[in-house]
Amino acid sequence: MSRFLNPRFNGIKSYTPGEQPRDQAYVKLNTNESPYPPAPAVLRALGPKQMQDLRLYCDPEGLQLRRKLAAYYGLQPEQVMLTNGSDDVINFALTAFSGNGIGAAFPDVTYGFYEVIAALQGVQIRKIPLQDDFTIRIEDYFGLSDMILLSNPNAPTGIALPVAAIEQILQRNPDQVVLVDEAYVDFGGQSSVGLIDRYDNLLVSMTFSKSRSLAGGRLGFVMGQRQLIADLNQLRYSTNPYNVNRMTLACGEAAIDNQTYYDDCCQEIMQTREMTRVELERMGFSSLPSKANFLFAQCHAIDGGELYLELKKKGVLVRHFTAPRIAQYNRITIGTPEQMGVLFEKTREILLERGIHV
Ligand SMILES: *Cc1c(COP(=O)(O)O)cnc(C)c1O
Repeated sequence: MSRFLNPRFNGIKSYTPGEQPRDQAYVKLNTNESPYPPAPAVLRALGPKQMQDLRLYCDPEGLQLRRKLAAYYGLQPEQVMLTNGSDDVINFALTAFSGNGIGAAFPDVTYGFYEVIAALQGVQIRKIPLQDDFTIRIEDYFGLSDMILLSNPNAPTGIALPVAAIEQILQRNPDQVVLVDEAYVDFGGQSSVGLIDRYDNLLVSMTFSKSRSLAGGRLGFVMGQRQLIADLNQLRYSTNPYNVNRMTLACGEAAIDNQTYYDDCCQEIMQTREMTRVELERMGFSSLPSKANFLFAQCHAIDGGELYLELKKKGVLVRHFTAPRIAQYNRITIGTPEQMGVLFEKTREILLERGIHV
């Protein structure tokens, strides 16, 4: 820390991204990336012409892509805003709609960024414990005086809420903004997008990072009624109007034009998820019911942190969190069937070294 840092940021806790080690080739099942490449048309989206055009600023409105997204989700372009990854949505939304006595409410076990950004902004945090089975009790979210952040499906549990539950939460908090983070919705969850025209307090965010194989392109978007989106745009124009670059816009457009390719990838991943769940169960694990591209799984024969380290030694990366409630679990991204085969093999070895035959 330098002597110049604003004391307001002393001791601020930042987010710890999943590790991206370069020391060896890992089977990487730790950051929920897609194991499949972007659609063929995306691979062709950037040529010499696009590179030439990099001397020009990008469209600050991202209008072409917004039109495509709006058409795809049954909305108007004014109801969509593009962001540099959907993590940006959390930042804009908390800046716009919390503070001044309005806090931020979210489950005790959820995406770590909510707490980090709320803390950065000095917003009061209300953590609402999940039930023992890691499900949300929706009544806990009725009549709050805070902005509500819900990842649906939730991370790192993978558990999804039905749209009807989200609707009840919207109805019981008419004067608070509810941000539904649908980063994983394409893997079997229900989207709340259809509620947007009936609820002026609803924001839905999505990302190209997971189901659309563009994590490195940094492309997210948020949808809501036009007044809410206009507020967010004011902040975006006050921060960085060119927040989504030309290359990423071109890739995003090609991706939306090839949605059936991604639908097929998601089907594959959901099948691999079920196969993985069954195999892990056979090896003595239990996992939470997942509608995401990962499983949150616990092995009853070995400590969660130890399993993570042993797998890493054997070249398989999964994500382990040390928070007490979830320290026995590991979050395992669903890769290709071949990658999952390596996970099973290495897990079997680790268990065998402890005298357990599976
Ligand atoms: C991965 C993820 C995001 C967004 O990631 P970006 O790459 O910034 O779009 C948002 N919410 C949750 C819960 C996630 O897991």
